[in-house]
Amino acid sequence: MSLDTLLDEARTNEAKLARLQAMEFRFLAAGSLDTLCEAIVEDYRETFSLAAVSLFLFDWDGELSRFLREAEIHERHGVHVVQAAQAEQLTALCSDKPWLGAFEERLHHRHFPVSRHALKSVALLPLSRRGRHIGLLAFGSADASRFDPALGTEFLQRLTAIVAICVENSLNLERLKRLGLRDPLTHLFNRRYFLERLMQAMNLGMRSEEPIGCIYADLDLFKKINDTYGHPAGDVVLCEAARRISRQLRIAEVVARVGGEEFAVMLVGSSHVDAMAVAERIRNAIAATPFNLPGNKRIPVTLSGGVAVWHAEQAPASTQAVDGLIARADQALLQAKQEGRNRIVAAGSS
Ligand code: GH3
Ligand code: MG
Ligand code: MG
Repeated sequence: MSLDTLLDEARTNEAKLARLQAMEFRFLAAGSLDTLCEAIVEDYRETFSLAAVSLFLFDWDGELSRFLREAEIHERHGVHVVQAAQAEQLTALCSDKPWLGAFEERLHHRHFPVSRHALKSVALLPLSRRGRHIGLLAFGSADASRFDPALGTEFLQRLTAIVAICVENSLNLERLKRLGLRDPLTHLFNRRYFLERLMQAMNLGMRSEEPIGCIYADLDLFKKINDTYGHPAGDVVLCEAARRISRQLRIAEVVARVGGEEFAVMLVGSSHVDAMAVAERIRNAIAATPFNLPGNKRIPVTLSGGVAVWHAEQAPASTQAVDGLIARADQALLQAKQEGRNRIVAAGSS
């Protein structure tokens, strides 16, 4: 090998290392799981001219899927959350170290579920933390010599170690964020989050002129349930009520547990009539079927609700407008209680 060739090779390697380091910094700087995934499956693919990049996150116990759903993190193109059985299949070739070689449909169709017609060579890189696979990164190239089994894998091993740390960190960060936004008993959003979302929706509503409906609901004579069946039974009722309310709502509608046995719902773009209809559906979902308690007990539960609607022209978006909307819904709720419970009252209807 001539000196020129050696120098050329050294320069190419140096440039490659610089790009790799820039990429690694990008991963380390990603502020959220979503930006990290974007950097891995999109930026990395472009920077290193790969034909395909897939990132698999392994969900060994079902917790990850639930938490991503609850955190409202949606799958992005090229990122796949997979269950235990599929995780085993994906790592069959590379359980303890990277696997490099020619693309074969039979071996690699699972690693590139979307498009693989251009692939000639493949690198499968298990992501491990503390001796456990947390995921897998699959690189596909249109160049047959790109991932040659004879190649050294130091670059790739270092890259995957960094990606694994970044994935684990960003998952932990999302978990922490979620803890601050959710009520630990029912897993509904908490009051703080609800107020924030309401403020955000009002700000958008200033331009879109969409009204915002707010339902304030409170379980009837809940103290009696606690007193009769015990606090743990009361908790079971709260969780079941939270599930029944959530089931009446669309994805974009926000429901929160805002107090002990109080729930609030935000309905963007909904008129008074729409909001009343949703509230009535919620009331019915609670009252129509008795609740099961541990020990084969079944008890009737009811809920009362107040409904108020915000229009941008009434009050510009502000914390006072948020408080005002909630106060009107709460006032209507009080009226529902006074009129005998298990009913929905519209604000300003007295
Ligand atoms: P009303 O129909 O007027 O709303 O009557 P109520 O009995 O539902 O209202 P009250 O405010 O008197 O009682 C609410 C009860 O909710 C009192 C409190 O102990 C209970 N509570 C609050 N948080 C929890 C919780 O997390 N778990 C359980 N089991 N009970 C709770
Ligand atoms: Mg109550
Ligand atoms: Mg109450």
